[in-house]
Amino acid sequence: MLRDLGSRDHEFMEINRHIRRRLLEIAGAIDSHVCVPLQGSGTFVVEAMIGSLIPVDGKLLVMVNGAYGRRIATICERYARSCCVLETGEDLPSDPGSLDRMLAADLAITHVAVVHCETTSGILNPVHELAIVTARRGRSLLVDAMSAFGGIELDARTTPFDAVVASSNKCLQGVPGIGFAIVRRSVLERCEGRSPSVSLDLFDQWRSMEATAQWRFTPPTHVIAAFDQALREHASEGGTPARNARYRGNCAALVGGMRALGFETLLPDALQAPIIVTFRTPADPAWSFQAFYDGLACKGFVIYPGKLARVDSFRIGCIGDLDESDIAAALAAMRETLSEMGVKNCTPRPVERPAPENVG
Ligand SMILES: *Cc1c(COP(=O)(O)O)cnc(C)c1O
Repeated sequence: MLRDLGSRDHEFMEINRHIRRRLLEIAGAIDSHVCVPLQGSGTFVVEAMIGSLIPVDGKLLVMVNGAYGRRIATICERYARSCCVLETGEDLPSDPGSLDRMLAADLAITHVAVVHCETTSGILNPVHELAIVTARRGRSLLVDAMSAFGGIELDARTTPFDAVVASSNKCLQGVPGIGFAIVRRSVLERCEGRSPSVSLDLFDQWRSMEATAQWRFTPPTHVIAAFDQALREHASEGGTPARNARYRGNCAALVGGMRALGFETLLPDALQAPIIVTFRTPADPAWSFQAFYDGLACKGFVIYPGKLARVDSFRIGCIGDLDESDIAAALAAMRETLSEMGVKNCTPRPVERPAPENVG
């Protein structure tokens, strides 16, 4: 990132070519799909996917179990495309059986959107099973794999999808600033003029990049150079399987250490993706998320607030250039911070369930 590259330099164009090819390789999509990178955070490319692929007379079904699924539905509404949602609780995975019934019942649905790892809770959705159902029912599948791509296997040769989007800065461990869409070539070829947005049009972005080998609008050259390096590191680590194994080790060490302190996870281990873990807030009156956050931040560890609609919680990430020794150091910092705060018991308050209906 400390070296300036001109956006029309031969060297920069080579970097772009490498990035686009490598992303297709990671997705097992070299022969079937094209890779379209786009400036901005992850949401920009989610929005570009919805706006560029769903026609005015299309209808999107969104599988929702958290904030990112809800965001896809919001984008769809803004673009004035018909949309419906199939929502499960934030601690329950999207269900292939319900998807199948919904697709059988509503023939107007043309596209289905799923979130691979719903980062709101950290839950792993069964993308492969959802993809098989969607393909069998002849619909088009769009995947938000933002927090999973490069860390959890998703291969176009075995899991049929028309588009998957992700960004530079999650499991691929680059710096933030670009996202990318991997779109089935035969699908994108039919999308000319579909997007109501100029800058978020994936068809135009693709065509212009194919024609000139350059970006349509000023690219974040430093971010892209760093992303190229990040992809080389992903490959030399052993690709997605090796990264997945390291993240799993981090996640198991984190969850084990936190449980030993008395914390409880929102999710049972079987539903947990090795990306980010949601812990329930302790009931101890000495607990305060802000004090915990600040105590850890000044020891060099940054965590996340909770993002759930109903349960009080906070989150800790397992991804990035971290291994189990970093997790052990984070756990030591947490023990120290809890004792500074005077928190003695990390057990959460019991979950408030709605009163059972009086079924007579
Ligand atoms: C991070 C993320 C996004 C994009 O968020 P940005 O803040 O726009 O980068 C979208 N979907 C999921 C599932 C994510 O984890």
